[in-house]
Amino acid sequence: MTPRYKRVLLKLSGESLMGDQNYGISPNMLTYYATQIKALQKVGVEVAVVIGGGNIFRGLQAKESGIERVQGDYMGMLATVINGMALQSALESHGVYTRLISAVEMKAIAEPYIRRRAIRHLEKGRVVIFGAGIGSPYFTTDSAAALRANEVSADVILKGTRVDGIYSADPEKDPSATKFDKLSFAQVISMGLSVMDMTAFTICQENNLPIVVFDINRRENLMEIIEGKMVGTLVTV
Ligand code: UDP
Repeated sequence: MTPRYKRVLLKLSGESLMGDQNYGISPNMLTYYATQIKALQKVGVEVAVVIGGGNIFRGLQAKESGIERVQGDYMGMLATVINGMALQSALESHGVYTRLISAVEMKAIAEPYIRRRAIRHLEKGRVVIFGAGIGSPYFTTDSAAALRANEVSADVILKGTRVDGIYSADPEKDPSATKFDKLSFAQVISMGLSVMDMTAFTICQENNLPIVVFDINRRENLMEIIEGKMVGTLVTV
């Protein structure tokens, strides 16, 4: 099989790590992601992962607890590093070589972000996990996914979600919502659909970086995307 994409950036939300818990990291989800990523690596796909932190902390939620926004955002970034460490550990226990790279310097546990080095890891078949987003407050890990995917010349962003693609309305609220198989960046904007936050989406649009939104919880999906099957919704020019 010749993979449809040679180098992918997989975006996983922090919330998806919770599984059926209300908070934190589900061991079952970690194992699930590790086996999914390992399968991609086995067929020769280079994998970079950007992981969110919403299962632990989000900057916006800090306001309610009286924590200043910027401080809260840094707390959110640290949460993504915790998730990255957990994923790294799960991958290593499945025999997958990984490198955890943090956008906020913390030498004892993660490499600093050096673009050329990150690319070299990918070329050598190591799974690169990007933690701490882009290292700046007021951004999200979607922005980090868009930025890093472009920087390391990934062929696509694979955005794993709870729903199986982009719908005309929220399918969890509106039963008449219909799913799109393919959309252009312009259509997403003109229809006011939400795929990623606007900053992230614009980076992808300006650089012609395709995005596949898909249901991460369906076991076959990731591999089917790599095999070139129509899974989820493809956003492209
Ligand atoms: N964050 C940030 N800058 C970044 C990435 C993340 O400030 O570049 C903070 C922000 O507060 C965000 C939190 O980290 O709410 C967790 O990331 P995100 O909400 O993207 O996680 P996800 O929704 O994917 O779980």
